[in-house]
Amino acid sequence: MARIAVIGAGVIGVSSAYLLARAGHEVTLIDAASEPGSGASAGNAAQLSWAYGDAMASPALLKHLPAIALGHDPAFRIRWQLDPDFLLWGLRFLANAPFSRWWSNTQSILKLAGESRSELATLLAETGLSFNYRLAGKLHLHPDQRSLAAAQPAVLRKNALGFEQRMLSRAEAEQIEPALVYYQGEIAGAVYTPGDALGDAAGFCRQLTRYMAQHYQVSLLFNRKVAGFTRQADRFATVRFDDREELVADAAVVAAGPQVRLLAAELPEVRPVRPVRGYSLTMQRTAAAPAVSLTDVKRKLAFASIGDRFRVAGLADIERPGAGFDPKRFEALRSAAADVLPDLFHGGVVLMRWSGERPMTPSSRPIIRPSEALKGVYINTGHGMLGWTLALGSARRMVELIGQPARCPGPSRQPQAGD
Ligand SMILES: Cc1cc2nc3c(=O)[nH]c(=O)nc-3n(C[C@H](O)[C@H](O)[C@H](O)COP(=O)(O)OP(=O)(O)OC[C@H]3O[C@@H](n4cnc5c(N)ncnc54)[C@H](O)[C@@H]3O)c2cc1C
Repeated sequence: MARIAVIGAGVIGVSSAYLLARAGHEVTLIDAASEPGSGASAGNAAQLSWAYGDAMASPALLKHLPAIALGHDPAFRIRWQLDPDFLLWGLRFLANAPFSRWWSNTQSILKLAGESRSELATLLAETGLSFNYRLAGKLHLHPDQRSLAAAQPAVLRKNALGFEQRMLSRAEAEQIEPALVYYQGEIAGAVYTPGDALGDAAGFCRQLTRYMAQHYQVSLLFNRKVAGFTRQADRFATVRFDDREELVADAAVVAAGPQVRLLAAELPEVRPVRPVRGYSLTMQRTAAAPAVSLTDVKRKLAFASIGDRFRVAGLADIERPGAGFDPKRFEALRSAAADVLPDLFHGGVVLMRWSGERPMTPSSRPIIRPSEALKGVYINTGHGMLGWTLALGSARRMVELIGQPARCPGPSRQPQAGD
């Protein structure tokens, strides 16, 4: 058995802590916040997008980039920064946009999503946790024939990989989701993915943390901020907190989400992670709310019914790290959502206004690897738009990297090209 400190109790850290504890390790789960799931995982769009692992840097986005750069797309915002890391991130993002890179990144993400899906099935059977998980299916609503036709090649490619996706007319989409009759947005047709699911990521974090603390050798340290590490020679020795206290462990897993950059002085591997801010509004669910998850392709909005709540999430703002949220963006989100679902978003009571930062790499592929700069530290971050979808697969890869207790702490699996 090895003592492993997991830094960060979002979906990635909680999943990693659970699978490491289940593999027989003694785990300490640490977070600066007072409870699990308080960061980027708190109010996300709840989508378990097993078939939508599409990398953000793509030929389509590249074409649209001038409009975004000029501020003509309300869903995206770029704050230009004279920061070498920002410029490097931008150049690497552009280098990932050509078709071959986009498709290779997307396939790598889809593979990890598949691993997550099977880990989730095992977890649900083992734990019986209930976090409003549901095989809801997803409809991507396309506003016109051009947009629909542009979606078809990706559908065929995913069909060839074994994902079930179908092109539907508006009438066929309404048969699957009758609440679409209330939808005021343009719908020329839809892509339907029956196998995609949803679940409350924050509920998952809270429940799984409680479960593992009850059933495994897991200690919890909340309200504790990690400031760095101490080392012996070139190897990790202890986790150092901001009050200078230390925690001795055999290895550490860094799952600090968008704030991971604060540890970049010691872990240069995390430099490529930049925050991309998003927003969500959660309302009381009514009879007019669709049960199937919806994505409005034109407005880049995702809608989900999560238990008795209904959520819209969207916007992608590349801001200066630490810039905080912009209250005006909530109104932008609400107004876009009210344009298409007025019964739900015109005047309805907002139960939660939330903004969070997606930890985004230029390729959209997460960083899952041992640190070369500090042996004994393992990095699990950079999951961008899809951290909830990729969480359990990434945790499984962490267990493979760190090894079962008998082999710990040396890595048992070399990082792959897609890691
Ligand atoms: C608007 C929006 C919608 C989204 N929708 C979806 C979706 O539908 N499906 C999907 O798959 N993904 C979605 N995502 C992405 C997903 O939410 C993120 O990728 C995921 O939450 C990242 O998880 P994480 O555990 O890496 O980070 P976090 O959830 O942010 O967790 C990191 C934790 O580390 C802690 N921490 C950081 N630094 C320290 C430190 N120094 N010491 C101690 N603790 C520290 C933080 O307090 C935090 O709790 C969405 C994101 C946004 C913003």
